[in-house]
Amino acid sequence: MANTTIAAFSIDEHLRWATARIVGREIDPESVTFGREVEPTEPGVIADQLTDYVARISAKYPDVRRAQGIGISMIGPVDVGAKEVKRVARKDWTPKIPGDPIIRFKNVFAAQERGLANARLAVQNDATCGALAEWYFRENPRTEDLGLWVYITINEGVNCGVLNVSRPLFQYRHAEIGHVFPARHPKDPFDPEKHSSCPLHLWCFEGIASGASMRKRWGDDWSADPRAWNLEAFYVGQLCLTAMLGFRPDRLVLGGYVVHRNPEFLPMVRAAFAALNNGYIEDGKAENPATYISAGQFDDRVNVLGALVLALDAAVGGPRSVVDRSTTES
Ligand SMILES: [Zn+2]
Repeated sequence: MANTTIAAFSIDEHLRWATARIVGREIDPESVTFGREVEPTEPGVIADQLTDYVARISAKYPDVRRAQGIGISMIGPVDVGAKEVKRVARKDWTPKIPGDPIIRFKNVFAAQERGLANARLAVQNDATCGALAEWYFRENPRTEDLGLWVYITINEGVNCGVLNVSRPLFQYRHAEIGHVFPARHPKDPFDPEKHSSCPLHLWCFEGIASGASMRKRWGDDWSADPRAWNLEAFYVGQLCLTAMLGFRPDRLVLGGYVVHRNPEFLPMVRAAFAALNNGYIEDGKAENPATYISAGQFDDRVNVLGALVLALDAAVGGPRSVVDRSTTES
């Protein structure tokens, strides 16, 4: 296994890639390399865009070409079991043949050079990959970090990934609590017809609390407006409460550019969460939002980084031992 390489691709507003090498059954963190060729995704057939991108990158980089495991992160909803996406919130992405899924990842890789076509493939939605990155590459891993984690991402979309003892909770699908309907703040000027940023729902968290929704409500300079942050904290606090009640995680980790843009935001979310919970759940964790809710450590490469963890699982062909990881790191 010493020379095994893995590769990852992520698909959202951009196409990205990364590679790493496996030592034993774990990723060598020193070997993680992020691709320089980041490309904006365009309207049209996303399957063709990805097929061309993978072909170009693999022709240029031997570690991609030789990869034995491939991990894919994509905005959802992703059919994890079938390794395909039937449709996405981006309506300007079309399938090759009308009525077909938007993308079948097996076909994308079957079309590649023979080595890559034979690599093992694992696919998840972006938030689940974000969760994997935050868990796997966290600083100072400790056994008490095990358990159930929910990672919530607030970007142009809103969603969550759920891990149970280091692995995605769901094998064939994923949670979609970004599309649960929140209670509206009475002082919110949100007009669903004008401001919702979810193409399919007027009232969901993604429609009302994504970065895109903030921009529609308050303009391009929304993050300079304190009213925007107060309302955003109210909605993200509700989303944390929804995740906590639905999954009862040991930790909630918040990521995405909205969260990282303002260092004052996390304390506001914690306060909103505590007010909404109102002492109902007291399990030694949820009543202490300062430790229960934390910010993610990674930037917008978090999804492709998490896809490397999927690639690791695909390459080693079975569940990793979380105990092995701590021993290889010492
Ligand atoms: Zn929605």
